[in-house]
Amino acid sequence: MKAIDVRNLRKEFSGGIKAVDGINLQVYEGEIFGLLGPNGAGKTTTIRMLATMTRPTSGQAMVCGTDVTKDPDKVRRCIGIVFQDPALDDQLTGRENLDFHARMYGMKREERGERIKEVLELVELSERANDLAEKYSGGMKRRLEIARGLMHRPRVLFLDEPTLGLDAQTRRVIWEHIRKLNEKYRITIILTTHYMEEADFLCGRVAIVDHGKILALDKPSKLKESMGGDVITLKVKNSGKMADLAKSMEGAKRVKVHDSSVSVSMANAGTRIPELLKAAEKAGIDVESVDLHKPTLEDVFIHYTGKTIREQETSAGDRFRQRARAMGRR
Ligand code: ATP
Repeated sequence: MKAIDVRNLRKEFSGGIKAVDGINLQVYEGEIFGLLGPNGAGKTTTIRMLATMTRPTSGQAMVCGTDVTKDPDKVRRCIGIVFQDPALDDQLTGRENLDFHARMYGMKREERGERIKEVLELVELSERANDLAEKYSGGMKRRLEIARGLMHRPRVLFLDEPTLGLDAQTRRVIWEHIRKLNEKYRITIILTTHYMEEADFLCGRVAIVDHGKILALDKPSKLKESMGGDVITLKVKNSGKMADLAKSMEGAKRVKVHDSSVSVSMANAGTRIPELLKAAEKAGIDVESVDLHKPTLEDVFIHYTGKTIREQETSAGDRFRQRARAMGRR
């Protein structure tokens, strides 16, 4: 069964900003589905509409079989949400944060106690439940936020940049928790991320989004295969000239320029490097370095958006720090 069914969904903000521009998307029960895209691509707006936090301008979105505009309360009962902005109260303990949330949802005392115990165990925070949230590390806070999103046993969980601002090791811990939720409880998970390894590790399928549209949607392995062979990346002084030369090579599939790097995909790429270097030398192009690798989601991302994910990571990290500062956190 479809957990999410989106048809021609649009969201326009005042000033003619088309944040989401006619998206079609189906996510099946039990999937982990990723929305990947540069800043401002429309990922957050998409999941805000699915989570009934923003009304679509047009189109249709069904979540757990219910139309988000027709019965938002019913949709809310079947979903859990963990959004980018930190939303914990640092002056409450982990347990109190969860209890506060459960009260807002009108849960009875006994039920609250039981659920809090269950979700704390799930994210392995039982032993720290009585510490103030301000004493938690970044990763523990994020786990507590996820626990909060699980309090009413949702069938679908929305995670907006679940590991933004966390270090690589903590990120991995969060990934394991997300996987466990999906495998053990078959919760459908829709996440947005800037981290390609995150999408590769977690997601059964991903959609690459830019300017409010879906540019590609498939399994990460299929997207990588579609790049057509291994990728040679050359760092050069004159990237324009090198790109023209690469394009003229027999069997060159995709040639992309980014700053002083030129990437070219081709079959049997490893055996073609000497030929490529010889041609560059003949054309008077100074090659500083050569790299050969299997296509990654990063290559797919560059192909569709024309940007590297590292540029995105930096600015996303900056935004997170700005937000955290604005909320009085460091
Ligand atoms: P990020 O990773 O930076 O959060 P995103 O892909 O989630 O990016 P959105 O936050 O959905 O992108 O934004 C899509 C576009 O809509 C952007 O141009 C953004 O400036 C604009 N936008 C988002 N929310 C509003 C709003 N409330 N009013 C006006 N414009 C908005």
